[in-house]
Amino acid sequence: EFVSVSKLAQLTNVTYQEMADKMEELGFENTSHDHILGSEEAGLIAMEYNFDPTMGAQDEAEAEERDLKALPEPAPEDKEFLPVRPPVVAIMGHVDHGKTTILDYLRKSSIAASEHGGITQHIGAFSVALSSGKTITFLDTPGHAAFLEMRKRGATVTDIIILVVAADDSVKPQTIEAIKHAQSAHVPIIVAVNKIDKEEANVDRVKQDLARHGVEIEDFGGDTQVVPVSGKTGQGIDELEDAAVTLSEILDHRADTEGQVEGWVIEATTKSNGRVATVLVRRGTLKPGTIIVAGKTWTRVRSLRNEAGVVQMSAGPGTPIEVDGWRDQPEAGDEVIQAPNEQKAADVVDFRAELAERIRMAEDMEKINAQRREQQVQRDMTKEAAAAEKAAERAARASGTEVEATATRKPALGNDDNETPGHQFVPFIIKADVSGSVEAVSAYLLQMTNPLCSPKLLRASVGPVSEFDIEHADAAGGHIIAFNLPHDPDNSGRAERKGIKLLEQNVIYRIVDDVRAVLEEKLPPQK
Ligand code: GDP
Repeated sequence: EFVSVSKLAQLTNVTYQEMADKMEELGFENTSHDHILGSEEAGLIAMEYNFDPTMGAQDEAEAEERDLKALPEPAPEDKEFLPVRPPVVAIMGHVDHGKTTILDYLRKSSIAASEHGGITQHIGAFSVALSSGKTITFLDTPGHAAFLEMRKRGATVTDIIILVVAADDSVKPQTIEAIKHAQSAHVPIIVAVNKIDKEEANVDRVKQDLARHGVEIEDFGGDTQVVPVSGKTGQGIDELEDAAVTLSEILDHRADTEGQVEGWVIEATTKSNGRVATVLVRRGTLKPGTIIVAGKTWTRVRSLRNEAGVVQMSAGPGTPIEVDGWRDQPEAGDEVIQAPNEQKAADVVDFRAELAERIRMAEDMEKINAQRREQQVQRDMTKEAAAAEKAAERAARASGTEVEATATRKPALGNDDNETPGHQFVPFIIKADVSGSVEAVSAYLLQMTNPLCSPKLLRASVGPVSEFDIEHADAAGGHIIAFNLPHDPDNSGRAERKGIKLLEQNVIYRIVDDVRAVLEEKLPPQK
């Protein structure tokens, strides 16, 4: 489910430049025409244009209703009045350097564990309360890297990375990978030099190796803190937590506890109480009854549970909480946004599903187009096809009504090469609103075929259906597809009198049904 910037511009009927400007406004860094967007990003951008793939023209009021855009972030000068929130910390490092051991040690001091006899379940994240009264939230999921990727698109999931490096093994390939990830995503690092209880431990060597790989550690005049620890004995873990709190204070992590809830799905699964997902709240306060949308599903929150399975009455920014009641399973990484009511939530989910479908189809069409172009290059036009083309051009010139120009016309004529005895070709003329539609409808048409009958593209061009189109279709024994064009009752009448089907359509995939019906008429009756 990916689409290029220029393709999305085409789908939403705006120029590439307009699209690029809008994207910049929305905070996208890369707006080049061939930059590939995920369906979620594409959906967000498309919603800016109230783009609905199922309708040609859309009621503006309804579009506004559907728009569940996030509230604007407070300006920096207002931010200082917001409450402080816990930092969200991810642990990364080379395999066997002690990530799991350190997380296990930290988890034992989780808030939920201390409240509830020490049993915590894995829900993807947990919060640790420090003696200072501060809290740190640790991500506990194998998909850390995915959350870093999200950060790249301007989304803040991970505030700090703790890079675990074993003191007896020093910097290894996955250590370097983690450093690169952190740097490219602009997430600050704290280094935990682990296994210092071991005899072979050499903390200085680790520091030197890190410096060589671009980590500006404090000892050498940089600002990256390095904390020697042992996940096994617990030595240094308090200092590690303090380092995270200090860094969070410097970075001044704050968030609004009021207003529209936003967050991320950290993990999703099915339990005895149905579909559940761990939501990490980014802003606002999640409560039972809150309606939230995530990806292509939504829930009216029935209950909130912490990592000990204990029911909570609310969860604010920086807090991971398990949420139930999902209509479908959300996915880790999905963005969570509050909806004002169930109808809006359902609408947004429908909209996203349709958009994803539309993008998938656009991609299919793109592939088909590319294949056709490829075939065309490899195939010489037969004399007959060339002659037919000349004749059509002469006819068009004689009528003087339009100048046609489209890349999809030639491959269509190539269809004739496949002609087998008894196989019929039904000619179609395509008229559409913009060149993107012409190409899309052409590609769609040409992939439809049945054992006895295939569509053949007579002509395809931008513009309203003209009298000449009807004459031409009539002469060729064909039909006309009018995509995304205003209904013209005169044309309908004229076409009907001549026995020509004028297929007026605003939804691209419904053309399939229309054309199939026309082709099926050509099939011999079932015996
Ligand atoms: P991960 O792959 O990074 O999650 O590493 P693990 O947490 O699974 O640890 C790998 C191995 O190192 C295990 O056998 C741990 O018991 C051991 N280990 C982890 N931390 C320490 C430590 O601080 N000291 C010692 N001696 N062993 C450790």
